[in-house]
Amino acid sequence: MAEIISGTALSATIRSELKCETDKLKAQGIVPGLAVVLVGEDPASKVYVRNKTKACEEIGFYHEQYNLPATITEHEILDLVDTLNHSDKIHGILIQAPLPKGLDFKNIINHISPEKDVDAFHPVNVGKITIGDFDFLPCTPAGVMELIHTTGISVEGKNCVVVGRSNIVGKPQAMLLLKENGTVTICHSKTPDLAQFTKNADILVAAAGKAGLIRGDMIKPGSIVIDVGMNRNEEGKLVGDVDFASAEPVAGFITPVPGGVGPMTITMLMKNTLRSARNHGKNKNL
Ligand code: NDP
Repeated sequence: MAEIISGTALSATIRSELKCETDKLKAQGIVPGLAVVLVGEDPASKVYVRNKTKACEEIGFYHEQYNLPATITEHEILDLVDTLNHSDKIHGILIQAPLPKGLDFKNIINHISPEKDVDAFHPVNVGKITIGDFDFLPCTPAGVMELIHTTGISVEGKNCVVVGRSNIVGKPQAMLLLKENGTVTICHSKTPDLAQFTKNADILVAAAGKAGLIRGDMIKPGSIVIDVGMNRNEEGKLVGDVDFASAEPVAGFITPVPGGVGPMTITMLMKNTLRSARNHGKNKNL
């Protein structure tokens, strides 16, 4: 049976470290601040935003939350982003995705100052990651790396397979694994015979958004299996991309859903915000 890697437990440990560092920074007169912008009424987004503001309170960050109606214009959102870009209290700006139809997420992200882009979605930060300059690590992939590190197994020289090539998970995940000298393969919906790749993965990161896509017979015995997927099954239960029941007896290490990657994503967001606040302090010679 695989060893379960608990994102909930790891997250709690990292958050208590972040709280200590935040206290030290506050003693120097800098209070890390995060602005969270929610547009519309998407129920899942509301839960994510609530969890992010809860994490801010737990760690001791200043936070501002903007609940904007779906009827808001893009121009009005850009005005808000400008204000937040210039606010001394705010070190991180987060626009909760997805945005209602008619609003261009990419354009709004491009308006965030790269120094406050704690999600690492701005093209400047994406480019930096590609050339190996890791100012802000993208939150979900960074959380995945922390989970892998807890196994004590080095990524170097391992066959790493990422299933999914989105800009927010799959592609940056591949870059982070590559940075640690993994041999990385990215699979996607046009990959024929997915199992042929996954079966050779020493480290498998599933981020396709398809419930139960990865079954036990597609996994290399003893491998590390990280499940990024968050899907609702027919009963409305939250499930991953990995069929846990058949995968657990085969894998060496496995993350559960929920309680795996999810809490780590928010924790990495907090880490990036703290880092941004620290950089802000350095720039002001505090
Ligand atoms: P996207 O829908 O943007 O991307 C999904 C990717 O998976 C695409 O590249 C797609 O390929 C690929 N894919 C889809 N079906 C298959 C298949 N049958 N075989 C192989 N590849 C496939 O999703 P995201 O990257 O945004 O998210 C992925 C999952 O992770 C979702 O369940 C999401 O909810 C979850 N998530 C979880 C987070 C967390 O904190 N735990 C944070 C972010 C996301 P193609 O490009 O060809 O279409």
